[in-house]
Amino acid sequence: MEYTALYRKYRPTRLADLVGQEHVAGTLLRALQNQRVAHAYIFCGPRGTGKTSAALIMSRAVNCEHPVNGEPCGECEACRRIAKGASLDVLEIDAASNRGINEMRDLRDGIKYLPGQEKRKVYIIDEVHMLTTEAFNALLKTLEEPPEYVMFILATTEPHKVPVTILSRCQRFDFHRVGQEQLFAHLQHLAQLEGREADEAALKLIARRAEGGLRDAVSLLDQCFVATDGKLTMKNISSVLGIVDERFMMAMAEAIAEHDGLRIVKGVELLATEGRDMRLFLQQLLEFVREQLLAGMSGKKTLLTRQRALQMLRDLVDGDQRLRFSLTPRLTLELALLQAAHLEAADK
Ligand SMILES: [Zn+2]
Repeated sequence: MEYTALYRKYRPTRLADLVGQEHVAGTLLRALQNQRVAHAYIFCGPRGTGKTSAALIMSRAVNCEHPVNGEPCGECEACRRIAKGASLDVLEIDAASNRGINEMRDLRDGIKYLPGQEKRKVYIIDEVHMLTTEAFNALLKTLEEPPEYVMFILATTEPHKVPVTILSRCQRFDFHRVGQEQLFAHLQHLAQLEGREADEAALKLIARRAEGGLRDAVSLLDQCFVATDGKLTMKNISSVLGIVDERFMMAMAEAIAEHDGLRIVKGVELLATEGRDMRLFLQQLLEFVREQLLAGMSGKKTLLTRQRALQMLRDLVDGDQRLRFSLTPRLTLELALLQAAHLEAADK
């Protein structure tokens, strides 16, 4: 049997199913119900938050033969065709790989022709900020006076790189990172649909790791399902996620707090021997220190003082920046942790 990635299998088919983007879905749905759909939209927001899914739903909704309260029915020919990616009138262009003026010229020529199968031609341009200046100019011309039957949906993770002239011709929607509670609830729902058992803590960990990206969260869940047979637990998913043991992390935080350089070096050596991802570890440590700080602020007893947690956070965030581009991650991590430990304090 062919394996379909969970993210594809459960891709939302109605605006109401978009997770964590109620503000966008509500407005778009009202526009559809009142037949006040704009001819150009720009969907902005972090990766994996549902921009392309929303664009595909919109392209179905405007072409559906029997829309249900504005939502696409999912049953008619148009809905099915577009869902299969077989419609000649719904075109997805990835600007990251088609940056040039030729693609935009083709597009400009293409919109002159009436749609062949559907009511409206829909052009979805992903990562639109990647277009070259010339390509933007060509696109701008088409956006100025598009024919009635054309709809543009631009999507971008970096709206600040899109020229104002383009932005001003589009109705803009900002997609948000999805809150952890909502991600968690969604993962729980998917586990149920898949008939898999999962510990709450394990799903919460996945939700946290996804940092607000729905697609990342679902892909991580997928990986965990594939890699384990029975119930998902903290224990069996930590190796999948490449996460270190909680106790090891606490020991490292302690070593830093106690200015213990030797223990830090040994710890990093262990991470290297186990082939761990250094950046992932640092992020986990950051998360831990941040939790300590928050706990301290709400008056709970903690391993680190507030002042110490704050200083460690500052040093570790700096380290994380350096680690992002480092060609020698092990050394960079070691240095970051040693810096955070303020060894000179131990020398006195
Ligand atoms: Zn339909």
